[in-house]
Amino acid sequence: MGDREAQLHRACDAMRQHPRMHLSRLSSVRETAPWGLTQQPHFLNAVAEVYTDLSPEPLLDALKDIERRLGRSGDALRWGPRAIDLDILLFDDLVFWSPRLQIPHAQLLQREFVLVPLFELAPGLRDPQTRRFLADCLRELAETDSSER
Ligand code: ADP
Ligand code: MG
Repeated sequence: MGDREAQLHRACDAMRQHPRMHLSRLSSVRETAPWGLTQQPHFLNAVAEVYTDLSPEPLLDALKDIERRLGRSGDALRWGPRAIDLDILLFDDLVFWSPRLQIPHAQLLQREFVLVPLFELAPGLRDPQTRRFLADCLRELAETDSSER
């Protein structure tokens, strides 16, 4: 919500300033149509490569803290407009599950708007659970989408 590009830059700056994170690379920023709840403004999406010595749950807490500082409060609507959304997509080759955190991100392989910028940063990545190349998942997703249109 608001100045979407400025919000993305604020989130990146907050990660750069965090003592336990190193933001090494950022994908290009793409505008995508909303998913799930379609009557709302389009989203801006990007993927960042971050080095950290935090373990997964403290990293999630740090990201949620940045979300709150950038104006995100308890959202009224699932999939609705939000001030910022910082999700953990992958964490090395880790497969992690707890009630509040799932890695890889639960919808990673279903979302073209995630796979495209991720592929831009790291074309050789594999899904740690299935060992499939993300590039193959992306191609398959693009084929399914276009045949359903
Ligand atoms: P969404 O990201 O699906 O639009 P939220 O940002 O509100 O929605 O996230 C809802 C909850 O999902 C978070 O409170 C968090 O505990 C949980 N969650 C589970 N896995 C992840 C992940 N990989 N990255 C971020 N949040 C996650
Ligand atoms: Mg989120």
